[in-house]
Amino acid sequence: STAVVLLTRDLRLHDNPALAAACAADRVVPLYVLDPSLADLSPNRTRFLHQCLADLRENLRGLGGDLIVRTGDPVAETIKVAREAEATTITMAKDVSRYAVRRERRLKEEGERHRIGVELHPGLTVVEPGDLRPGGGGDCYKVFTPYYRAWSARQWRSEAATPKRITLPDGLTAGRLPAPGDGPGEGGESAARRRLTSWLRHGIGEYGDTHDDMPGDATSRLSPYLRFGCLSPLTLAEASRKHDADPFVRQLCWRDFYYQVARVNPKLSTEALRPAADNQWRTDDDGLKHWQDGLTGVPIVDAGMRQLREEGWMHNRARLITAAFLTKHLGIDWRPGAAWFFKWLLDGDVPNNSGNWQWTAGTGNDTRPYRRFNPIRQALRFDPDGVYVRRYVPELKAIEGPAVHQPWRLTGLDYPKPLESHRDEAVWLRD
Ligand code: FAD
Repeated sequence: STAVVLLTRDLRLHDNPALAAACAADRVVPLYVLDPSLADLSPNRTRFLHQCLADLRENLRGLGGDLIVRTGDPVAETIKVAREAEATTITMAKDVSRYAVRRERRLKEEGERHRIGVELHPGLTVVEPGDLRPGGGGDCYKVFTPYYRAWSARQWRSEAATPKRITLPDGLTAGRLPAPGDGPGEGGESAARRRLTSWLRHGIGEYGDTHDDMPGDATSRLSPYLRFGCLSPLTLAEASRKHDADPFVRQLCWRDFYYQVARVNPKLSTEALRPAADNQWRTDDDGLKHWQDGLTGVPIVDAGMRQLREEGWMHNRARLITAAFLTKHLGIDWRPGAAWFFKWLLDGDVPNNSGNWQWTAGTGNDTRPYRRFNPIRQALRFDPDGVYVRRYVPELKAIEGPAVHQPWRLTGLDYPKPLESHRDEAVWLRD
């Protein structure tokens, strides 16, 4: 028998339930379809993806197999390959986005037409979205803490076995992979494993104390690997539990939390979870552009926005500060903000990006939607000596210590004045 495994956001050999299930057949076709409708989403992410695919191909070749690559509509191409290989089954990981759900539905319909079974497997989260439901009814948990309790108490599935050998059917051409090219990050399962090993050895133990230290950069930076599935979230969560790292495991639960929110809110990236909180935004193209370019005049915001462009990644605290600055200080809609993050972040995905943006903008299910962020207080607390700002804002390199956070107090500096608040002059500017 022959099975095709359509790989999407699970670009790995370890703990890959869809791949393991396909390996029950005598011959397996690991397939990736480059979808031109997604091609121009993000230069950073596209490069990272190509690195992931190159690494996966090499690892599959090491097992005697290959990564079969096609370009076009994923459903049509998958069916075409399945028929060419005379496969009876197609397996893939179940996803939550609107695009992915539609792709799954179409694949099932087409599979039925050609008498090819389509099986959906877990693998993109620790606990499957939809597996946990709140006691009082409802499709998903809206508040994190009760979700975390249920998630922690849940028996997680067992990790899927890593295949030892892959036998391809005869006669399939492998297909060309785009050249990975240069850019931020290093994609792929091999790089993910190296990062995981060093994180478990050197980082995770201190995470509870250091995760908010902006210059220390002491978080795992595993998010891009989770985004592309180079690292199984379950493998990571299990390993973290063994290290007794509750604060870190809790963060992994936030990721699952937003997936289960996204599953029942397919328009999470465009529609507010609480529409009543969503009607007061200003259109301010100039303000938006200054924010995107890291030229707001508020160094902690500018540093974060420049880190995003340079590294395709931003510290979580910087994401909070910059997102709050756009929505609460400038009064600009969270949607263009989220779209900008989505464009540049290596880890950009709809559930986490839109979920966190809505939380920050106060349109989500946050229990304190009117929370305001004072960026200077944040800067002095989480970048007390200004090291993070000087790293990303070279114009301010010569200013020593925390004074770098308030350049408007200094004379003779060529740095833009802070953009004004949409409501009133912010208190922190007068301090
Ligand atoms: P660590 O601190 O090492 O955490 C480990 C893992 O836990 C992360 O890789 C991530 O998978 C998960 N995690 C941590 N914090 C969160 C969180 N608040 N929400 C969901 N999962 C979390 N994360 C994304 O993966 N993709 C996004 O597109 C994204 N957009 C964001 C937008 C905004 C406005 C904000 C405030 C946060 C966003 N986050 C997003 C969440 C978080 O900032 C990143 O997951 C984290 O900074 C990634 O770095 P890390 O792997 O070093 O995290």
